Amino acid sequence: MKTIGFIGIGKMGLPMVQNLIKNGRKVVIFDTNTEVLKKMSSNPNCATVSNPKNVLDYTNELITMLPENSHVKSVYFGKHGLFESKNLADSLLIDCSTVQPQLALEIYNEFQKKDASTVDAPVSGGVKGAEAGSLTFMVGCDETKAKQIDPILKLMGKTIVYCGKHGHGLVAKLCNNMLLGTLMAGTSEALLLGQRLGLDPKLLTKIINISSGRNWCSELYNPVPGVQDQVPSSNGYSGGFSTKLMKKDLSLAHDASGGNVELPISSKVLEIYKEVLEMGNKAEDKDFSYVFQYLKNKKK
Ligand code: NAD
Repeated sequence: MKTIGFIGIGKMGLPMVQNLIKNGRKVVIFDTNTEVLKKMSSNPNCATVSNPKNVLDYTNELITMLPENSHVKSVYFGKHGLFESKNLADSLLIDCSTVQPQLALEIYNEFQKKDASTVDAPVSGGVKGAEAGSLTFMVGCDETKAKQIDPILKLMGKTIVYCGKHGHGLVAKLCNNMLLGTLMAGTSEALLLGQRLGLDPKLLTKIINISSGRNWCSELYNPVPGVQDQVPSSNGYSGGFSTKLMKKDLSLAHDASGGNVELPISSKVLEIYKEVLEMGNKAEDKDFSYVFQYLKNKKK
C-alpha cells in the first residue's frame, strides 16, 4: 500500500484524507492543530508527524491544503519546513490551497533546484465535494505530468483540468471565484428589488431561470431563504462557502492583477463583501450568499 503525505487537515483536508484512506492509501499527516492529529492517529492507516519536513521521511508524494499564503510559505520555506528535507529529489508536492499564483511560481523555482516537482492544484466543489470525492482540480502545469498526478487526484476528485503553466491553476481558480462573488451579489440585488416591488422571489427565480439572467446562483444556490431547499440560505446561511473565504479569494484576485488590469466591477463587489464581514452576527462564517441579507438590511 503506497503512502501519501498530507498537511492541513481542516474542513477540506480532513475529508480529502479520509478519501485517500478509503481508496487504499496509507497517509502520513501534519497539522499545527494537535487535536486533529490525535483524533486521526487511532486510524491504523494514518501516521502523524510533528513537522512538515518529517512527512517526507515516509513518502515522496505530498498534498498541502492550507488557509492562506502565510501558512503555505511557512510549510514550504519555514523552520522544519519542506525545503529543509533531504528527501526532496524526485518528490511530487501538490498544493491544493487557494493562494497567490505568484507563490506557486516561487515554490516551483526554488524546489526545482532540489529536483522536486511542485504544482498548484486548487479545487472547486467545497466541503461537500471533498466529502463526496467529487472535487474539480485546476492544475498548474501541462499534461505531461498527468500520468503522475492523475492517480493521486482521482482518489479525491472527479475532474482534473490541466491549465498549462505553473500558477495557472490558481489563476483559473481566482478568476472563477471573482465571477462567482459578482454573480451572487448581482443575483441577490435583482431578487431583492423584485421582492421590494412586490414580486414573490420564488416566481422571480423561476422566470430568471428560464430567461437570460439565469446563472449558477439563481439556479442552484439561491440566496433568498425558502426559495430552494438544501441551500445555505434556507438553513440560516450555515455550511457552504464562507463569506470570509469569498472575501479572501476576491482580494487574492485583485492582488494578482498587480494593479495592471482594471477590475472596476469586482472592486465594488470586494468592498461589498468587506462590509458583509462587518455586519457582526458571525457573518464571516456564514455562507457568502449572506450578501443578500446585507443588501436587505442596508440603509439608504
Ligand atoms: P481550514 O481553516 O478549515 O483548514 C486549514 C487547516 O490547516 C487547519 O486544520 C489548520 O490547523 C491547518 N494549518 C494552518 N497553518 C498550518 C501550518 N503552518 N502547518 C500545518 N497546518 C496548518 O481551511 P479549509 O476550509 O480546509 O480551506 C483550505 C484551503 O482550501 C483554503 O485555501 C481555501 O480557500 C480552499 N478552499 C476551501 C473551500 C471550502 O469550502 N472550505 C472550497 C474550495 C477551496
